[in-house]
Amino acid sequence: MIDTLSQSAIDTYQRCARRFYLRYVQGLDWPAPLTSSELDFEQAMRRGEHFHLLIQQHTLGLDVTPMVEASEDQILRDWWQRYLNQAQALIPSTARAQFSEVELGLGLAGVTLVAKFDLVVVDAEGELVIFDWKTGVPRTAQQLSATWQTIVYCFVATECGGQLVDPASASPTPVSPESVRLTYWHAREADRPVRLPYDEASHEQAHRRLSAVIMELKDLVESGEESAFVRTPNEGECRHCPYRSYCERGRVAGPEMEPEQLLGVEESMRVVEGPNDLED
Ligand code: SF4
Repeated sequence: MIDTLSQSAIDTYQRCARRFYLRYVQGLDWPAPLTSSELDFEQAMRRGEHFHLLIQQHTLGLDVTPMVEASEDQILRDWWQRYLNQAQALIPSTARAQFSEVELGLGLAGVTLVAKFDLVVVDAEGELVIFDWKTGVPRTAQQLSATWQTIVYCFVATECGGQLVDPASASPTPVSPESVRLTYWHAREADRPVRLPYDEASHEQAHRRLSAVIMELKDLVESGEESAFVRTPNEGECRHCPYRSYCERGRVAGPEMEPEQLLGVEESMRVVEGPNDLED
């Protein structure tokens, strides 16, 4: 049974149901040996993770710049300078509060839907500004607005953001969708942040889409049929998939991905045995 879902797990499912099955239902470890191109890919993923960690430490008040400057990784040093010079300028200077690597969750369609944010700022008007740091290939506003990350982030922030606006309240009220804004900042296009607004219509649509995909996923998991989790017809998804050896799919390296597309999924979704304890 499904216990908790994140945008990464939903994204994994929509990219390939079989990959979701192998990772979360079967709980298989990565079986594929790395080729040289994949070692480069792994290095890029680790750099992205390192960059996120540096930002988190910096947000907590640690002076990590000397450590970055001492690094032999020129790409990491360049990203850091862009973060200092351009990303920080995007953060409201009159912020009432800010929360780094904060996780929020709510019950939806019988599971706990969680979102882990890089940074959420409560501005002077009590509105929520979400920041997500990207290190992969930049995507357009249109592409980003259609991702499960955008849908889950804005939906969860609206439903649970009152906890951040008013942390002292025992029963914080949801914030309005119009007071939630999501900014994607790409280290490779530091001067072109993508700002996405949100509104009531988007929130209602997100509710419908999330409920539908969660119910679909639950039905598949509860069927217990491996064959129901079909392989993606898009073999491009297989190029960096660690489960290729289970699927006899190609071994040519594909385009770059964001670290969270592979790494975050491991921690953000659990499939557990036993009865579901949440209401639909
Ligand atoms: S190799 Fe392709 S079909 Fe197999 S699990 Fe990975 S993405 Fe899915």
